[in-house]
Amino acid sequence: MLSHIKIVLVETSHPGNIGGVARAMKNMTIENLCLVSPKTFPSADATSRASGADNILSSAIIYDSLQDAVADCQVVLGASARDRTISWPVLTARECAEKFVTGTTSIAKIAVVFGRENSGLKNHELDLCHYLLRIPCNSEYSSLNLAAAVQVVCYELFVASGQRVENTIGDKGDESLATMKQMELFYEHFQQTLTDIGFLHEDKSQSIMRRLRRIFNRIALDTKELDILRGILRFSQNHNK
Ligand code: SAH
Repeated sequence: MLSHIKIVLVETSHPGNIGGVARAMKNMTIENLCLVSPKTFPSADATSRASGADNILSSAIIYDSLQDAVADCQVVLGASARDRTISWPVLTARECAEKFVTGTTSIAKIAVVFGRENSGLKNHELDLCHYLLRIPCNSEYSSLNLAAAVQVVCYELFVASGQRVENTIGDKGDESLATMKQMELFYEHFQQTLTDIGFLHEDKSQSIMRRLRRIFNRIALDTKELDILRGILRFSQNHNK
């Protein structure tokens, strides 16, 4: 889905950051990593920070120049935290994702280029970029850690690609939500158990049961979860005998 995107790191000094970038990319299903003259690579620090994303590291392509790294791309985005004296067209990370993943240009091969930890991208490198990509943040403290910046950009690309897993009620796996009938049987069982163990008294039982219903209504139980709760009730009734 995002195979038309490549992440390019220019002269990264800390190999740990390269590992952090690989992990961030893999989390967001982006696989193509290019390294322009990394200071130290391969490295045990990179592998350890990649933590399971070492396939991204082993397939990373190393180049001597940014020009070579982006030669096969149609669009180049330069990620930069700094305001430049010369102005390039600037897009936020989200605007880039919308334009180059969901937009009409989504067929183009795209490079997102990230600069050095200590000095970012040089102007002659930005000359190769069609747009500056900016992650909006605190204007008085705007430089993110390299891997954190890649994470934010890859996240925006991932969301724009529509792969986001919906985490809505009822989407908890294979179990279906408990029906009203099952919930009513559960409340009867619950009330009976609370009475048996001496917790509920006639006078207050209605208002307590109403509050308990409100709690369970807030959390949309599925049938498996309901079975566990019924099991607990049966267990405590047996122990109370
Ligand atoms: N000190 C450097 C910033 C280094 S951060 C400077 O003065 O430019 C390393 C890289 O992470 C940057 O080159 C840039 O590619 C990316 N980055 C960090 N913060 C960013 C932000 N707010 N927006 C876009 N990219 C950012």
